[in-house]
Amino acid sequence: MHRPWDAKCDPPPFTGAHKRGDLWGYDLAVADNGYDVIVIGTSQGGRLLPPDLAKAGKRVALVEREHLGGVCVNTGCTPTKTMVASARLAYQARRGAEYGVRTGPVSVDLAAVRERKRAMVSGARENYASRLTPEGLDLIEGEARFTGPKTVDIALRDGGTRQISAPVIVVDTGTSPRPLTIDGARDIPVLDSTSIMELDTLPQHLIILGGGYIGLEFGQMFRRFGSEVTIVQTGPRLLKMEDDDVSDEVTAILRDEGITILTSATPFRVEEADPGHVRLTVRTPDGEERIEGSHLLAAIGRVPNTKVLAPEAAGIRLSDRGYIEVDEYLETSVPGTYAMGDVKGGPAFTHLSYDDYRVLRANLLGPEKRSTRDRIVPYTMFIDPQLGRVGMSEQQAREQNRPVHIAKLPMNGVIRAIETGETRGFMKAVIDAGSGEILGAVVLGAEGGEIMTIIQTAMLGKLSATAMSNLIVTHPLLAEGLNTLFMTVDGQEFAAT
Ligand SMILES: Cc1cc2nc3c(=O)[nH]c(=O)nc-3n(C[C@H](O)[C@H](O)[C@H](O)COP(=O)(O)OP(=O)(O)OC[C@H]3O[C@@H](n4cnc5c(N)ncnc54)[C@H](O)[C@@H]3O)c2cc1C
Repeated sequence: MHRPWDAKCDPPPFTGAHKRGDLWGYDLAVADNGYDVIVIGTSQGGRLLPPDLAKAGKRVALVEREHLGGVCVNTGCTPTKTMVASARLAYQARRGAEYGVRTGPVSVDLAAVRERKRAMVSGARENYASRLTPEGLDLIEGEARFTGPKTVDIALRDGGTRQISAPVIVVDTGTSPRPLTIDGARDIPVLDSTSIMELDTLPQHLIILGGGYIGLEFGQMFRRFGSEVTIVQTGPRLLKMEDDDVSDEVTAILRDEGITILTSATPFRVEEADPGHVRLTVRTPDGEERIEGSHLLAAIGRVPNTKVLAPEAAGIRLSDRGYIEVDEYLETSVPGTYAMGDVKGGPAFTHLSYDDYRVLRANLLGPEKRSTRDRIVPYTMFIDPQLGRVGMSEQQAREQNRPVHIAKLPMNGVIRAIETGETRGFMKAVIDAGSGEILGAVVLGAEGGEIMTIIQTAMLGKLSATAMSNLIVTHPLLAEGLNTLFMTVDGQEFAAT
């Protein structure tokens, strides 16, 4: 572990590319060597680290090429969850009669949904900007590119370039949507997770490539807004990381809302059908199939933002897929250079990027040293009902031949869920057969993420399944279902202590 505050960087070698006295050249780079740290990317993870470092007396350069706040605030969590809320309201309004509430026909004004989303995003951006005040912290607006181990060139947003260097560099540049490259994709408009949120009129038929969480959240959202939706998944089932019963239940829930789901369907060509329409051709076990729609969304994964950044110019080792490799302290192969957030690969969530910040803050400012080893990483998929997941899945336990008990409770066994009319889904926990330790859980149900977090807390506190079955929970909360869940394991009363 390096804390190389003692030695500021040597000036970058004079390559002849910059003339002395040139404003954007070598002299300026020498002047800029007053920086102790360069942080590249202003995400959730990087939100707090630069101000913390500056408050600790370090001179920090924070570089951002686009919007303050990164993906989460601008094109990820905040805008999607804002729009998911609109979609849920439309869904609930249509269910009014079930609750004895009269409503007229429900329709969605997508331009107004977008305005609400835009307002939320700009509020979050302003909040971010308001934190960048500590003395010693410089925000540099431009795109960074490594030119040497501790030196980056910045293509400034207002034109020109600037070279800066520092002994410590933190890369937090995240990922971008993976572009669709199948035959014809260049010739027609293809939406990604960013551009779809800027539509102001409803797609008549939205075809979504990808059955991961981004594809499913948008699929349900647009179905509830009023679009016809088809989700195309290459693999045999949605959400390949989840247990079969989870994937089956999610598929049933989405189909029940009128979404068409095609599995084992590999897209290989796309073309314009009638003007303004797309025709997608997929290969299935039964032969080729054509799907026509008005819009096409590619939700086929993300790629690391390392192409322009060129970490290899600094000697930073990358994985085969272009992610930055780090050790358990988030240090790259170049001492004193770190990576945080999605750009280092692995689970890609805001809360993980935020925890990376905690780890780096400890390791750069002390006093203790922190590692990323053995972190419990929960996640929630914001379809409705939510899917909250933490720890070991049933399938993972079986793959490891670990003796486990499975506790499972359908949401229609939870009184609160019955009262509120939200009985879709189930809770499931994986329990060590010997000790009764809770190893993992999935809650596919109303407020599934919140309920899962209670189980996560129990896991951290090493509470046994029996302790959870005896917990006194306010009646009638959804969390009350945890008593019942942990009471009956493998269909029998659970006896371990
Ligand atoms: C549609 C969608 C929905 C999501 N929903 C959720 C959710 O509900 N919950 C959740 O936990 N996660 C969600 N995520 C994931 C979450 O947004 C990311 O995991 C999180 O933003 C990762 O943060 P990060 O630290 O990797 O940096 P990012 O947020 O990716 O930010 C990186 C920043 O670096 C900048 N940058 C890149 N290259 C350069 C360069 N060369 N020079 C200067 N600046 C550069 C970028 O402009 C960007 O601002 C969602 C993502 C998407 C796309």
